[in-house]
Amino acid sequence: RAKDEGGGMHFNYVPSLHADAEERRTLELSLRNAIGKEELELNFQPVVNARTEEVVSFEALLRWNSSEHGFVSPGKFIPLAEDTRLIVPIGTWVLQEACRTAVRWPDDIKVAVNVSGEQLLERDFTANVVKALADSGLPAHRLEVEVTESVFLRDGRLANQTLEEILALGCSIALDDFGTGYSSLGYLRDLRFSTIKVDRSFVQGASCDSQESLAIIRAVVAMASSLEMTTTAEGVETAEQAAMIRELGCTKIQGFYFGRPMTTADAHVLVTKRRAA
Ligand code: C2E
Ligand code: MG
Ligand code: MG
Ligand code: MG
Repeated sequence: RAKDEGGGMHFNYVPSLHADAEERRTLELSLRNAIGKEELELNFQPVVNARTEEVVSFEALLRWNSSEHGFVSPGKFIPLAEDTRLIVPIGTWVLQEACRTAVRWPDDIKVAVNVSGEQLLERDFTANVVKALADSGLPAHRLEVEVTESVFLRDGRLANQTLEEILALGCSIALDDFGTGYSSLGYLRDLRFSTIKVDRSFVQGASCDSQESLAIIRAVVAMASSLEMTTTAEGVETAEQAAMIRELGCTKIQGFYFGRPMTTADAHVLVTKRRAA
């Protein structure tokens, strides 16, 4: 009997592993065709000046509406795209599309684009940025590249070198999800980031009963300011959080409270309405 049960457990275990691999494989096949089938789209989430609450930029966020799988969340398909290196052609499309969109906004509004380590380590990354700017006519100073600490892990020297080229073009660089990564501060010394984005776990953890998150945000703001960098608080969802973040001295705010990621058309309405007002 014991032997039978053991065999049964083994038998149940394998098909579920197989189903996972199978799902990933079909998802990967669909993702491979997603650009050609025009299933990818960018949404844009506003980032506001913490004091004036004016929109200063939008972050481009990728969306995939698959004809085969329906809406697939970025938390699922971005890691898959990174593992399969599909993020390289997809990321090139994102850069092009983000620049094409932003060039139609008022010229004091920037666009921020997320870039994965796989893209940064590609030989022609800088050339892709140059081409996206040239094709769209977007001035380099209106493009911000967002990277997380993880891009420095595999080949930190090459990542730094590429980001220096991006800075030399006149673009700015933001350090995304700060505080959740590997907490090496060396890259803050080595590279001139314009903005540190404080991860939403600190923003949402900060309250009167969590002095720890408050203390961490305060310290990041002080450090950024000494390094002549600005700070953006991510994931601000309530008026209370917005007030607290302003109190702590963050430069910019991003979160559902000021605006969810929206379509290109809605983002355009938001910035043109602002100008008319
Ligand atoms: P991220 O770069 O940190 O982007 C911010 C994420 O937080 C977005 O999730 C956004 O929708 C979400 N968010 C914004 N405000 C709030 C809030 O108030 N509350 C909560 N709970 N969430 C908020 P999203 O769009 O699902 O993207 C997830 C991640 O996928 C991004 O995190 C980024 O790492 C990656 N990603 C998205 N688009 C791209 C892309 O074009 N290229 C690359 N390489 N990665 C991308
Ligand atoms: Mg980001
Ligand atoms: Mg982030
Ligand atoms: Mg993130």
